[in-house]
Amino acid sequence: MAATILDLPGLVERLSPGDRARWERIFDVRSSTGALSVPPPMEGWVANRFGSIEAVTSQQIVHVMNTVVGEGSLFNPLRAHRPLDAKPLGDVSDEVKRSSGGPFCTPLDLTPEDPFGRVKGKHCVTASNIAKYDGLHGLIVFDEHDPLHISSERVADYIDCALAWADRCRQLDPDAKNVLIIWNCLWKGGASIIHGHAQVVCSKGLHYAHVEHLRAAAARYLEAHGADYFDDLSDLQHALGLGREWRDVRVLVNLTPIKEREVILFSPTVTDALKEAVFRVLDHHLHKLGTRAFNLAIAIPPPDDPRWEGFPVVVRLVDRGDPAHPSSDIAAMELYGSSIITTDPFEVAASLFQLFK
Ligand SMILES: [Zn+2]
Repeated sequence: MAATILDLPGLVERLSPGDRARWERIFDVRSSTGALSVPPPMEGWVANRFGSIEAVTSQQIVHVMNTVVGEGSLFNPLRAHRPLDAKPLGDVSDEVKRSSGGPFCTPLDLTPEDPFGRVKGKHCVTASNIAKYDGLHGLIVFDEHDPLHISSERVADYIDCALAWADRCRQLDPDAKNVLIIWNCLWKGGASIIHGHAQVVCSKGLHYAHVEHLRAAAARYLEAHGADYFDDLSDLQHALGLGREWRDVRVLVNLTPIKEREVILFSPTVTDALKEAVFRVLDHHLHKLGTRAFNLAIAIPPPDDPRWEGFPVVVRLVDRGDPAHPSSDIAAMELYGSSIITTDPFEVAASLFQLFK
C-alpha cells in the first residue's frame, strides 16, 4: 500500500544511516492523538460527514518541522471533511469570462510602460506596475485572458520575458541583481486582476526576506555540518519517496508545505528543463489535482556573488484552495504558528512524479 503522511515516523525509522543522519540534521516529526467524545444526537451527522464515529473520536495528527528553515506543518487529513459555513461564490470559469475586456486585454493602451519601454514575448508583453512593491516592479501580461490556460511554450515564454525585463532593469541599475518572479492566480491566490499575468521584481543589496532567510539557513547548515543543505534535503526527500531528480532539476513535494500541495524545484540556473518542470508541475496541479488558485515564485540569486555561492534557483508553487469558497485558506496558525495541511504529500508525489520519470 502506498505510504501516507501518517506513516512518516515509521519511514524515518527505516532510512539508511546516511539518510537518517540527514533527517536528524533537517527534520523533526512527532505524532499526537486528538480525542473527543460524540454526544448521541450528533452521531448520525458525524458518521455522515466523517465516515465513522471512530474517525473523529481518536484522530492522529502529524507535526513535521524543518528545523533548518524554521517551517513546520501539522497534518490532519480529517480536516478536509470539516464543516464549512461560508457559501460558495459560484462557478469560477463564469467569473473568469465575466472579467474579460479589462485593461490587461489591451495592455499597450491601458497599462503603463517602464522607462525603457516594453519587453515583448511571443505570448506576453511587459507593463510597468502602476502601484509598485519595489522600485523595479514589472508585470508580464499574458496574451490569454484565462489565467488557467497554459502550455509548455507559454510558461517558458513568460519566464523568458521576465528574465529579459530583469536584464533591462540591470542596464538601468547594475546593482539590481536580485530577481524574484511571482505568479498569483485568481483572487484566492491574491491576484487583484483575473487576466493571466505574472510579476517580476528586482532588488539591490539584500534579496527579498524569505530568500535571504533561506540563504542564511543554508549557510548555517554548511557551517555546522560541512554539507550542502539543498543536496541533503533533495537526497533525503528522494529516499522518502518525496523527491525526484529530473534532468538538472530536483523536484520535491515539500514535507513542510506552507499550504496545500506545495512543490519545490531546485535548479543550478534557469534552464529549459526548469521552465519545462514549472509547466509540468502547474499542468499537473491544474489538470490532475483540480488546483485553481495558486502562488508560484521563482527566486533567482545574484550571479557571481560569493555570498550566494551554491544557492540554486528556487521555485515554490502552492495551491491556495477553491476560489469558489470565500473563506481564506490562511489564518492565524499559518501566519504565527505552523501551517495546517489536509492534503497528503505522499499522494501529491505519487501523482506528480508520473510526469518526471
Ligand atoms: Zn483580459
